[in-house]
Amino acid sequence: MVNNTSVSLESPLMSTYTRFPVTLVKGKGSYVWDDNGTQFLDFTSGIATCNLGHVPDAVKEKLEEQVQNLWHCSNLYHIPNQQELAALLTENSCGDQVFFCNSGAEANEAAIKLARRYAQKVKGTDAYEIVTFQQSFHGRTLATLSATGQEKIQQGFLPLVQGFRYLPYNDDAAIEQIAEIKPAAVLLELVQGEGGVIPANKEWVESLAQICEENDILLMVDEIQTGIGRTGTLFAYEQYSIEPDVISVAKGLGSGFPIGAIIAKNKAAKGFDPGSHGSTFGGNPLATAAGVATITHIVKSNLLKQVGEISTYLDEQLQTLKEKYSFIKDVRGKGLLKGIVVEINAAEIVQKAIDQQLLILTAGPNVVRVLPPLTATIEEINEFITKLEKAFQSN
Ligand SMILES: *Cc1c(COP(=O)(O)O)cnc(C)c1O
Repeated sequence: MVNNTSVSLESPLMSTYTRFPVTLVKGKGSYVWDDNGTQFLDFTSGIATCNLGHVPDAVKEKLEEQVQNLWHCSNLYHIPNQQELAALLTENSCGDQVFFCNSGAEANEAAIKLARRYAQKVKGTDAYEIVTFQQSFHGRTLATLSATGQEKIQQGFLPLVQGFRYLPYNDDAAIEQIAEIKPAAVLLELVQGEGGVIPANKEWVESLAQICEENDILLMVDEIQTGIGRTGTLFAYEQYSIEPDVISVAKGLGSGFPIGAIIAKNKAAKGFDPGSHGSTFGGNPLATAAGVATITHIVKSNLLKQVGEISTYLDEQLQTLKEKYSFIKDVRGKGLLKGIVVEINAAEIVQKAIDQQLLILTAGPNVVRVLPPLTATIEEINEFITKLEKAFQSN
């Protein structure tokens, strides 16, 4: 049975979201304003998307310039911004070639298709399975919800796309199983975002990478939430001694302009030929203008060093809260992707935070997820802590 308790027949919008009673009309930096002019501190960053804060000048200028010239022309022609963004992404990662699309789910969809073709065409095997992990989240298209290791995402959409197997995360036995199964690929998040802000253990990831290497299994990391500086490095994999064959990115890549991509090593990229995959909008001049400005800003500025300092400060503040409030069981995450594990209802805290003009998220029933923009200041972290404490104390 599919639960469907909130259908409003009056709204012209389909009831796919439970929305907070807030209407946002403007944003700048770490703040957004509603239609009454009320200011909120936004520590959701549009779900890890507005990593440079709202309406960042560098991206705004580049988009305004591109708006004057050309919006769209299709991938039948060369697109200079696309080439520039691909060069930026490969120069700043272990990957060699990029495919552009428009969202996170589409990036993982491309990774899944690439893995199947790589196995069949390049390796010449009939392996098609892709191992993913329990509690993972990889998107809402039919293939990516099939890749997702959470039944609630799949409910009502059976039959699933075949060929996925969900193993326990951070589990040594899973690595042994992978060596036996010899799947086409392994797809994993380095910090499970939607699943509860659960970081992957360093040694576990490194053994997993070694098994993949020894068996020519593609190692694919879903960095849609962890990428673009979120965890303190441009990509989270840099904090592990691994070189993934495929990296999927989206959320932060366009600072809020929709864009997704996979970055693959030459070896894996051989799975695609002209005609094997495509997208009408993928990497269009506007989207890649936003991407070029975003990545250029991150790699040329001091921002990632600042993220290190700010996230250390945020950690200290959250640890202090943990000592003060016994319902806080754990504080975890990486960089500015933080989860506060609570014994009470996380959604209620998020609701009460709105009354304090603070926007935060949940990640499952017992985790409050905090995603400040990478540009957040010490003063804004202090404001966040004050507001969060008021939310804890209000009834
Ligand atoms: C958000 C997210 C996706 C899906 O991205 P969409 O742009 O919503 O399709 C996939 N994987 C992870 C890890 C995500 O956080």
